[in-house]
Amino acid sequence: MTKPTTTNTGIPVESDDESLTAGTQGPILLHDHYLIEKLAQFNRERVPERIVHAKGAGAYGELVVTHDVSRYTKAKLFQPGARTESLARFSTVAGEQGSPDTWRDPRGFAVKFYTEDGNYDLVGNNTPIFFIKDPIKFPDFIRSQKRLPGNGLRDHNMQWDFWTLRPETAHQVTWLMGDRGIPKTYRHMNGYGSHTYQWINAAGERFWVKYHFKTDQGIEYLTQADADRIAGEDADYHRKDLWEAIERGDFPSWTVYVQVMPVAEAEGYRFNPFDLTKVWSHKDYPLIEVGKWTLNRNPRNYFVDIEQAAFEPSNVVPGIGFSPDKMLLGRVFAYADAHRYRIGANYAQLPPNQARAAEVNSYSKEGAMRYYYNDPNVPVYAPNSFGGPHADPRQAPDGGSWDFDPTIVRAGYVQHAEDGDFTQAGTLVREVLDDAQRERLVRNIVGHVLGGVREPVLGRVFEYWKNVDADLGKRVEEGVRAGLDGGAQG
Ligand code: NDP
Repeated sequence: MTKPTTTNTGIPVESDDESLTAGTQGPILLHDHYLIEKLAQFNRERVPERIVHAKGAGAYGELVVTHDVSRYTKAKLFQPGARTESLARFSTVAGEQGSPDTWRDPRGFAVKFYTEDGNYDLVGNNTPIFFIKDPIKFPDFIRSQKRLPGNGLRDHNMQWDFWTLRPETAHQVTWLMGDRGIPKTYRHMNGYGSHTYQWINAAGERFWVKYHFKTDQGIEYLTQADADRIAGEDADYHRKDLWEAIERGDFPSWTVYVQVMPVAEAEGYRFNPFDLTKVWSHKDYPLIEVGKWTLNRNPRNYFVDIEQAAFEPSNVVPGIGFSPDKMLLGRVFAYADAHRYRIGANYAQLPPNQARAAEVNSYSKEGAMRYYYNDPNVPVYAPNSFGGPHADPRQAPDGGSWDFDPTIVRAGYVQHAEDGDFTQAGTLVREVLDDAQRERLVRNIVGHVLGGVREPVLGRVFEYWKNVDADLGKRVEEGVRAGLDGGAQG
């Protein structure tokens, strides 16, 4: 027998089908409170979508540590044999909620670990680098990749205008225009912590560290033509693939590695190790295996578990810390602030964001949608004489500190021996890509530029690619000019 429909407070309702009216042709009545509850709730079903990374998919899983990295970190989740429940959310960056999964874009790779010391969030991407290196440019960058204010359209001219005016974007744009710019599925891409973080061992020794999650499914990509076709046929292609793989028990996994740099080596390293537009060469800092990360459980409710999931790089646990990476430091503020705005002050009480393996003994109180509260006998302030929690620095993360030159400046990163906006982009083109990959790179760039880039941006686009690699730049210019001529004739 089906259950009776009720109001949100459990009162059985008269009808699912007819509103209360004065006679059959009269007005709808204000005291039809169930109709009003239904319409008002419907109006509020959406929370504001994320300004970036709006379209995504996610699942639960676990990290199992298979190798001993305890000499670098005391973090409990990375001790040998540790098994930690985890939540992942993958996403595109620029598109809105309903946008196709197969647009060329970096992919978000956000991971939450429910550790005994509280939640640890690693909010990375499927690329080891990023377009910019200072958070003051983030709103400008994102606006340039989204929509024009007047007609609400996306605009390649605006994208390339920003990219070519900020040459530090070259490494990431090269990566984006290459094969990995459109992963075949979320399962067939790597994840990177991207930022430089700090690990601290039991003796208090500090290391700089970068995270790499290598897909066990193998890297696979979509060509531009296939991606364009799929965008029209199945906008949710990646979300569906992840869901269906987990439903059929084909659990995707990633092998987790780190690169570790002793703190004393940072100053003399050939690249500034805190600059998010650069990688640390694998040859200089080989990958060290940590464990296996597997996704094995779909969300029970997409909105509750994934749309309301709040990842924040400020969530670090003892044994892990921040670094002088300015983008990281900007995000440590911005993410928690975005959640407070988008979901509400009590977002950490929602199921995907709650601490699951640690006790919460916070003094925060009240605010909209508060659900859990402290024992009424525990005071609401610290210090107090009534046995309320008090801070214990011996248990707290000590990752907020590092040594630095204590001058307050507004300046770019110190340039190391081989730093340069185009250096690593050129290495990628010349030393990592093969001929076929280079050919697809040229075609992808040409196709994108022909999507509406005009002078004076166009001239800068050719210069930009010649700076990355002379031959690549020449081929891009030839391809674009041929396309423009063809367009003019056609
Ligand atoms: P290596 O030759 O040791 O490493 C090159 C790495 O490039 C590979 O291990 C692989 O990383 C990645 N790669 C392979 N094919 C592609 C592709 N089509 N698009 C993007 N990345 C690809 O050299 P270095 O470590 O000295 O790095 C050389 C260049 O490789 C860098 O300038 C950077 O552009 C790129 N790269 C470097 C990474 C790093 O962390 N050192 C990571 C990714 C790219 P993976 O194992 O992560 O798949």
